[in-house]
Amino acid sequence: MDFKPLREIIDGNQNFVLTTHVNPDADAIGSETALYIVLKKLGKTVHLINFSKTPDNLLFLDVDDVIEQYIPEKHDEIILNTDVIFMLDLNQATRVVKMGEILKKSECPIVCIDHHQDPDDLPTFLFTDEEACATSEILYRFFEETSIVEIDTDIANSLYAGIMTDTGSFRYERTSPYTHYVASKLLEYNIDPNEIYISIFEKGNVNRLNLLGLALASLKLVYNGRLCYMTIRQSDLDKTGANESDVDGFVNYCMTIAGVKIGLLFFELKDGLKVSFRSRGDIPINKLAGEFNGGGHFNASGSRLFDKELNSVLPEVLDAAEKYLPEE
Ligand code: 5GP
Ligand code: MN
Repeated sequence: MDFKPLREIIDGNQNFVLTTHVNPDADAIGSETALYIVLKKLGKTVHLINFSKTPDNLLFLDVDDVIEQYIPEKHDEIILNTDVIFMLDLNQATRVVKMGEILKKSECPIVCIDHHQDPDDLPTFLFTDEEACATSEILYRFFEETSIVEIDTDIANSLYAGIMTDTGSFRYERTSPYTHYVASKLLEYNIDPNEIYISIFEKGNVNRLNLLGLALASLKLVYNGRLCYMTIRQSDLDKTGANESDVDGFVNYCMTIAGVKIGLLFFELKDGLKVSFRSRGDIPINKLAGEFNGGGHFNASGSRLFDKELNSVLPEVLDAAEKYLPEE
């Protein structure tokens, strides 16, 4: 990827807004905090504005406590008056929910740094690599290739967290030799991979596990065991005291059963429904998600449907999924 134009955008502007997707994961937050530190080192004015609150287990990445949750009255003016907007780990306006409106209204360049498929027409500049394991990996490449600033422990911590989580701790398909190269370079900056793992995955509460119990109990196999799905209702959240971000990763349990090619999680939201899609091998699950207004990666996608009922969407998705299953 040619990073020269990206470097020029940074060098040629002073005020930046950084944002990422709804329900941010460690790649989303880590990309933001890493780029934030870099821009601050260059003397820039930077606002980090996200639609969602930062999940508790990722707050450690926001060392300076600078991430703000989007409030239209407070942030619309900042967004409309900034020089440049960065969309990180995010390539579609729908993925910032109600914040999408103001991004569409802004007239400044919108720079997308991302590794998802099918960007919409919101970004002015695209720095995307669908083969990259994480947005954090792309950012590392940018920082290294352009020697933009000296990487420090906080930057390394953020990028490592993003890469570790988006690769499922270095096991998903896009974990490449380059991924391990980047991880090895980041380890030179005095970061503690064990501590990062514990902070993200092992400081949870019992509510999440109780919710997982209910999700696992809901598990069903159809199409001769080739498709596995789970459902989570709002009442399950009430029963367990868990919250929306606790559901992150549950769908992967569907994929732990031999023979399962597609895994789905139907999650009832207050105002609609979230569906998580996973697939094995050459099944383009982003295409199935696309049939339901979603998208993402080839083997991992999602969609949010507003004002829709779980009970009506579930059979539609199962029907639509059948054609993606390989012959038995
Ligand atoms: P998850 O199921 O873990 O929430 O999301 C898996 C992947 O699907 C994410 O990394 C993201 O790429 C994509 N994704 C999740 N939700 C949405 C959505 O509502 N719209 C689109 N376009 N992609 C989504
Ligand atoms: Mn990512």
